[in-house]
Amino acid sequence: MRKLMCKEFIMEFLSDYLDGTLTGDVVADLERHLRGCEPCVAYLKTYKKTRELTGRAGRVEMPPEMRARLREFLRAQLSKGK
Ligand SMILES: [Zn+2]
Repeated sequence: MRKLMCKEFIMEFLSDYLDGTLTGDVVADLERHLRGCEPCVAYLKTYKKTRELTGRAGRVEMPPEMRARLREFLRAQLSKGK
């Protein structure tokens, strides 16, 4: 099994992890590591936020369920006429 090396590991796999393009094994390793490693969790959060803010990720996939919910939300907001 792959030995997890914090920063190196996180930096190498994080964007793939967030894109959902990693294989199950790697995801399992990564999530197991994240459970016991606060610095990596903090890094993951920062990274995620940065990506959301810049919106430059390009290939971020939104799950259909979330997309549907977002559409509902926007429709509700629009129909309020605020
Ligand atoms: Zn770590």
